[in-house]
Amino acid sequence: MLSVTQRQLNLKHYYLFYIGDIDGIEKAQTKQAYERFQKDQKLGVDGIYGPETEAALLQCIKDVQEQLNTYGGYKLNVDGLVGEATIDAIKKFQTDKGLKADGIAGIDTMAELNKVLVPKSGGGQGSSDKGSSGKGGWESIEYFKKEEFKCDCNGKYCNGYPAELSLKLVHILEQVRKKYGKPITITSGMRCTRQNQIDGGISNSKHLYGKAADFWFSGMDKQAVIAYCKTLPGYNYAYTNNSNMLYAVHIDVV
Ligand SMILES: [Zn+2]
Ligand SMILES: [Zn+2]
Repeated sequence: MLSVTQRQLNLKHYYLFYIGDIDGIEKAQTKQAYERFQKDQKLGVDGIYGPETEAALLQCIKDVQEQLNTYGGYKLNVDGLVGEATIDAIKKFQTDKGLKADGIAGIDTMAELNKVLVPKSGGGQGSSDKGSSGKGGWESIEYFKKEEFKCDCNGKYCNGYPAELSLKLVHILEQVRKKYGKPITITSGMRCTRQNQIDGGISNSKHLYGKAADFWFSGMDKQAVIAYCKTLPGYNYAYTNNSNMLYAVHIDVV
């Protein structure tokens, strides 16, 4: 597991979950930081730093490092550890975006950073919404329009499309639509950073990257729908029963 110093560094430079000094001492402020982060990640909130918390924290920092590398070509090791190089890269990025260069990826910095799309290796075919080439593009989608996945902030914090919408996601929903024969309502599609906070999404939610949607249809048997989604290509994760999701199912893709 990470040293307390490293945990403090990660939690300070990511959303300022930790506000104290980097002293390697696990006292009240550090435990509060664990709790804030656990709450954000929808983990069990006990203020105890265990393997789940560590895995989530490493992933959050890796995402930031990948975004920084993609944006600025900084060649950071994507290791999930905040160090001098990562802090410097955050500062350069902030300067570039006209933000205060404090090296802390807080809400404004993350809002900009989350606009950076990290190319994933393998795939990405047919991801253009022009639908001009190849199978599996928008021209093959019968039941959905891109607008249905627009961010709910209504243009307040973004232009509605803070990321590229994954067609894998739309294809899965299309299959669900065909199987059950019911019109599907997308209750939450893409989200910008601020809308994601309002919706209570985790800070690295796949909704930020156009890879998740919450949906609902009349008479939906949620567990059966989830079981069906698991059989479809591109499926990554699905859940329901989240208190702020009402009757919807969340699905996300790789
Ligand atoms: Zn928005
Ligand atoms: Zn969701």
